[in-house]
Amino acid sequence: MSICLYIIDPEKYIEAGKVSEVKRTNTFIIEDCPALWELADSCAKLYNKLNFERRQAYIRYRRFEYPKHLYEKYAPLIGSATAQQIINKNNEAWRSFLALKRLEAEGKLPEHIKKISMPRYWKRNGKRELRIIVRKDCYKIDDEYIYLPRGLKLKYKGMLRWKGKQGRLEIVYDELDEVWRDFMAVEVEEPPARGGSKPLYIDLGVINLATIWFEGLKQPIAYSGKAVLSDWWYWTGKIAKEQSRLARVNRARTSKKLRKLYRIRQKRFRHAVNVMVKAIVEYAYKLGISKIILGRLGGVRSKSRNNSKANAMINNFWSFSYIIRRFKEKAEEYGMEVDEKSEYRTSSICPRCHSEDIITRGRLLKCLSCGLEANRDAAGVLNIGYLHGGSVNRVVAHPLLLRWNGMRWEPKRTVNNQSMKALEARISRL
Ligand SMILES: [Zn+2]
Repeated sequence: MSICLYIIDPEKYIEAGKVSEVKRTNTFIIEDCPALWELADSCAKLYNKLNFERRQAYIRYRRFEYPKHLYEKYAPLIGSATAQQIINKNNEAWRSFLALKRLEAEGKLPEHIKKISMPRYWKRNGKRELRIIVRKDCYKIDDEYIYLPRGLKLKYKGMLRWKGKQGRLEIVYDELDEVWRDFMAVEVEEPPARGGSKPLYIDLGVINLATIWFEGLKQPIAYSGKAVLSDWWYWTGKIAKEQSRLARVNRARTSKKLRKLYRIRQKRFRHAVNVMVKAIVEYAYKLGISKIILGRLGGVRSKSRNNSKANAMINNFWSFSYIIRRFKEKAEEYGMEVDEKSEYRTSSICPRCHSEDIITRGRLLKCLSCGLEANRDAAGVLNIGYLHGGSVNRVVAHPLLLRWNGMRWEPKRTVNNQSMKALEARISRL
């Protein structure tokens, strides 16, 4: 049995006995060393040569053979285990390509895939992508150093978040930050699901990134997307400026600076999301909640019909799949289950009397049957709760708003916000 280390209450998981294994990745940075450059360059050469031969073979004969000649040539240079790992990596890429081809032939290709291309080369901007793959039993790691084949002992920076059976290690040169990044696969034991208690309901959106509620909470809590949105647009502006500068000055389409700006924008967004997801899941854990019901994004587009910037984000960059993935990963860490539900009805019924006779204006929803006025995101999450068996009696139909200050999610200060107060006063209890 491998070691099992969870942040909270490890005994609980171990004594439960029945465990399955999940794959996780530890990421860290290692110090630079000339041997890495040499090794990585040879790895990329092997990968690209092999890929070239396979592309030819695929086009001509539709079949592959084991690349014995390449293995024999590269094994002395990079070690036989690493040579084999590189070949395996290329096998994986071709296997998934062929699987997609099969689906295409059967007419079962997922909608979001428009075009299937043969596996690409390890190449970017005309340069080889530097990457090393180390077999799981060919490296060691302690508190300070990583020990690689050929006697390389290198310092690393970063925390080993996951403990468990160590898997394959990939070392990739990040040309933007000019560091060697390591991705270490780890198999950890999955904690058993926790029993009892009511679910936590979450409605995802743009104006409010997430609105949450569980039975017993007197009003929903909303994580305002406003600051995150404007930060995103601030960096989008910088990106646009750099793009036009590039076009004007050297007729180029990309630059290191541009790629850095894209990365900063994404990092800042992801940071806000991660802090939010962590706070929500830890909160749920403390409450003994074992299941999260996540309203899927059917309603998002229509909800923000009047906000063209928000629409642009949904259509182009805003990563809902990222938010959902983070919720799932975080929940799994805590032994919670995430259930995605279609949201199609939740934005079109009254949370009090469930009538469909409603009108919406801005962020407000008014029920023509019972006269209730509610905040739309609050109504959305309460309806998710109602549709999945929750009792929404006597809940306030407007959310407690949390705002992102760049570091933390904090309750909104209501001073200086008379108009908002007036609006909230109009929103009634269910
Ligand atoms: Zn009503």
